[in-house]
Amino acid sequence: MKKIIILLGPPGSGKGTQAKLLADRYNFSHISTGDILRSIRNTGAHSPAEENVLTLMLAGQLVPDEIIFDLVGMAIDRALLEKKGVVLDGAVRTKAQAEYFSKFFHDKKLEEEVLVVEIALSDEAAHERLLHRRVCRSCAAIIPFSEITKNSTVCEACGGVIETRPDDTPAVIAGRIASQGSAAVRPLAEFFAAQGWLSHVDGTSTIEVVAKEIQKVVEQS
Ligand code: AMP
Repeated sequence: MKKIIILLGPPGSGKGTQAKLLADRYNFSHISTGDILRSIRNTGAHSPAEENVLTLMLAGQLVPDEIIFDLVGMAIDRALLEKKGVVLDGAVRTKAQAEYFSKFFHDKKLEEEVLVVEIALSDEAAHERLLHRRVCRSCAAIIPFSEITKNSTVCEACGGVIETRPDDTPAVIAGRIASQGSAAVRPLAEFFAAQGWLSHVDGTSTIEVVAKEIQKVVEQS
């Protein structure tokens, strides 16, 4: 089984939910760039660079590649030092990031350890999910919309407050789908396919079914 799993997919495709499940199942380190960047919000005073990151996120725009390289590179090194595998969730969204992490793994002679799983979902379905999802402000659990959860105000996992993400407004969602949706994912998938690292799963099914599909791909890798 490979020890570096990269999840690709549009916003709302379930990368965060599936990454958490994978990390729990295999005791891997879950590296979510969105969660790491959002955690800046909860720190005290912000530097101008941090303010810039928060402004870009709120507007649904990508933060500069160099910030991602530093944050993710450090998180991967930390996990590898602890002899843990990693699940990268949302860490690769531009061609420059794909090229950077490909080189990063080649330089560390880890190219045989990489598996990229694309969670395929149409932009329309992703859009619909984002309009209705909520998250826990404390533990970052993602609360998909359902009859059971629609009126929940408190996170079942940790008791934290459930909120709508500040970047899940209709206008920002549309912008994120336009810039991070299938048109943006396709060249990344092609790049990773050329390295022999790419697998696909259908992201339209339930969380449990998609998790089983991913588990199968991971355990066959
Ligand atoms: P997510 O929680 O994965 O939807 O990410 C939330 C936001 O964080 C994105 O809309 C971007 O503003 C920023 N972000 C997360 N990952 C990246 C990345 N790899 N490159 C650039 N920006 C990112």
